[in-house]
Amino acid sequence: IEALRDQFTGRTTSYPRADGTIGPRTYLDSAASNLRFRGAEAVVEDAMQHYANTHSHLHHGARIMTEAYAQAHDAVLQFVGAPDDYTAIFCGTGVTGGLNRMARVLAAQHPERDVAITTLMEHHANDLPHRKHLRKVVHVPLQVDPDGNAGRVDMTALRAAIHEHGDRLNYVAVTAASNVTGIANPVHAIAEAAHDVGALCVVDAAQSAAHRPIRITGDAPGEALDVMCLSGHKIYAPGSPGLIVARKALFDNHEPEVVGGGIVEFVDAKRYDVTSALPDREEAGTPNLPGSLLLGATLRILQRVGMDAIEADEQALTQYAMSALNEIDGLTIYGSHRLEVAERIGVITLNLHDLPHGLVTAALNDYFGIAVRNECFCAQPFVRQLLGIADEQGIAPTSCTDTCGPRTQPGMVRLSFGLYNTRADVDTAVKALRDLAARPDWYRERYRPVDDGS
Ligand code: PMP
Repeated sequence: IEALRDQFTGRTTSYPRADGTIGPRTYLDSAASNLRFRGAEAVVEDAMQHYANTHSHLHHGARIMTEAYAQAHDAVLQFVGAPDDYTAIFCGTGVTGGLNRMARVLAAQHPERDVAITTLMEHHANDLPHRKHLRKVVHVPLQVDPDGNAGRVDMTALRAAIHEHGDRLNYVAVTAASNVTGIANPVHAIAEAAHDVGALCVVDAAQSAAHRPIRITGDAPGEALDVMCLSGHKIYAPGSPGLIVARKALFDNHEPEVVGGGIVEFVDAKRYDVTSALPDREEAGTPNLPGSLLLGATLRILQRVGMDAIEADEQALTQYAMSALNEIDGLTIYGSHRLEVAERIGVITLNLHDLPHGLVTAALNDYFGIAVRNECFCAQPFVRQLLGIADEQGIAPTSCTDTCGPRTQPGMVRLSFGLYNTRADVDTAVKALRDLAARPDWYRERYRPVDDGS
């Protein structure tokens, strides 16, 4: 891991500030996108010397690209330990594209099962597609401890919802780790519960894939996940190659979502026959070769380093950060700060009691050169819940003034880690937050709250 740390672009980039000075940057926004990993770029550069389109074996470049693209698929399947009856499909835009597509596929394949269950801790990408394609979506609440800390999905409530909907339930869609609190869910236990009523389990692995081991199969056969979606840019491969890893059988007799070149066996003016081969059938058109190859190469390197080691390293850093942040008076960390650190990834959201999140974020970025973001992180229901805001509109200055400050959208400040981050980065952030908490007026005079709009 130490050797990899130097192979990221942007770790030590200089940062222009509002006052015209230039200073070093600390990157703590990995939950949005990880930094670029040069280690994989070097590997891909070799193959890209021969760049050409796939779908032909007759010239050298096409052959190399076709083979490299197939290897990228294999790398994904290996990374998540997928058995032979699973396929890996590269799809357009990240997890968002993958979940939209799978909601459509699953709704069309089993129209009699017209209910989906998701949770109140989801990114909008793992909520809105289900609302769009299923007749009914149930949002399962979170386990809340007596101090109001919301942790993982409430398994009792989830099981009750699963049994209530029984053979109307199509699938349960859940995140493997929250992009707001970093807290991880027991996805294999959730899969087993869904399978109990013949439903499927769809997992949003956007946040967890680069941070902790995640496998398709569980300890028992009934615990295998049916669908997993991943995003390249959250696994150190920039751009948005999205990935679906899913049971091949889910696509049986399904009309492909996108039709065109590369997926047909016969076409005349009256009819077309699509190939039955996966993933080809679901990957019409020219693939995003640079993004896919980069992701494949990155996954192989991560696997070689070992996801257990990567997780342990990040946990140690997260624990270090949580301990230091918990010492700052007037700072609240959201989610279960009491949960064992093993059940979370390196994402920490917080607010300072005396300053709006938009102002804290503006100062952290501009004054301290710490790249962080704020507001709701595309998880408005969850953030409102953590802030104790019941208001459907999401703007509740009366109940939110203490933590968010007046005249801003509800929200929080998020610090998130990648494998390039070290204790020195955490120290920089803790020192900055300590100063903000200690002399809020000094910052209030210089910065205005900024709503990030996300
Ligand atoms: N799910 C989670 C948990 C996420 O954090 C994100 C990205 N912030 C997404 C889904 C959507 O990913 P993408 O933007 O790559 O589609």
